[in-house]
Amino acid sequence: MSEVTRATFDEVMVPNYQPAPIIPVRGQGSRLWDQQGREYVDFAGGIAVTVLGHAHPKMVAALTEQAGRLWHVSNVMTNEPALRLAQRLVALTFAERVFFCNSGAEANEAAFKLARRWGNTRFGPHKNTILSFHNAFHGRTLFTVSVGGQPKYTQGFEPLPGGIRHLPFNDADALAAAMNDTVCAVVMEPVQGEGGVMPATAEFARAVRALCDKHQALLIYDEVQTGNGRTGTLFAYEQFGIVPDVLTTAKGLGGGFPIGAMLTTRSLAEVLAFGTHGSTYGGNPLACAVAAAVLDEVSNPALLRNVAERSAQLRAGLDVLSARYGLFGPARGMGLLLGAPVAEAWKGRAKDIVNAALAEGLWLLVAGPDVLRFAPALNITEADVSEGLARLERVCAALAAPREAANA
Ligand SMILES: *Cc1c(COP(=O)(O)O)cnc(C)c1O
Repeated sequence: MSEVTRATFDEVMVPNYQPAPIIPVRGQGSRLWDQQGREYVDFAGGIAVTVLGHAHPKMVAALTEQAGRLWHVSNVMTNEPALRLAQRLVALTFAERVFFCNSGAEANEAAFKLARRWGNTRFGPHKNTILSFHNAFHGRTLFTVSVGGQPKYTQGFEPLPGGIRHLPFNDADALAAAMNDTVCAVVMEPVQGEGGVMPATAEFARAVRALCDKHQALLIYDEVQTGNGRTGTLFAYEQFGIVPDVLTTAKGLGGGFPIGAMLTTRSLAEVLAFGTHGSTYGGNPLACAVAAAVLDEVSNPALLRNVAERSAQLRAGLDVLSARYGLFGPARGMGLLLGAPVAEAWKGRAKDIVNAALAEGLWLLVAGPDVLRFAPALNITEADVSEGLARLERVCAALAAPREAANA
């Protein structure tokens, strides 16, 4: 095998990413090791994906057992792991029907296509508007990126699909004013993830549900990032006291194995009748076997209790660092999806703090240019949270020091 380094990336890969200078080669729980054997505490979770950490024995067992049996049959035939996983999702949520795919964008693509087809077939071609919110993120296909509310992701990709409007988030009056009988769906993230870790208020969530009911529009919850135990309940909608019509998820569902799902009711599922939508790999036996093992764990009350406890620990630790060093403000978010907005002096440079943390042996994320994001494994231990916070404190001390020296 030829030797590969970070420099190889620039030689052979499309430059749409700018990966970190290190290359991880092994993971265990919430620790990672790079090519040089350096160890890192993982507060990033592969962007809210590795919900059970790295190399969890139940995931490894599910994958290797299925790998020796059957990898792929296509949707010309169904398979046992897909049926078992769908049964579990139906038992654990509002949903009565499940569509499997391979990513969050594909889950949303399916949801938006369902909404359009529902509007068209049940009401008429006028009912086609999809409402979403500023700073929303729903994926990178042309349809999903257009529904997303961050213009920087659509620039240069015009012409964009039409029939989409964006509104301010957490503003029920703006939504009420925009609602009319052309709206087929409203889509929202319970906590805007990529958009800066911005939670919906419960009040807003209930107002959105009521407005969708009033105007006969579907409520689509994008739980690609917030789902699968991330916020302390299996899905975040449970905490708002409302039920969506369609829910999409991915990321944590496979714990690191690619899979996405769209969940809905029996009546809405009928809109996607035979032949109307599909995916070669959707419901792949390997992905579904792993996801079933993950779902068993993330629906376990003991694990959800750990999310609440580690969330409180991490939030308290961050707030201490916030008060002591002033690099970032108090944390916000739900469960183990937390964000800390950087201070004025660091505006636009959250990434610099992430880079400094990596050099100190801690993997963090940004959510946009101004927010530090924390999305560790849901089974992260108290000791790993403490160690990560200790490393972050060293980063804060080093980055704050020049300013204090200048003030002295
Ligand atoms: C990550 C994300 C997506 C896109 O998921 P992919 O698997 O990257 O396609 C969609 N919606 C939300 C809320 C996300 O966080």
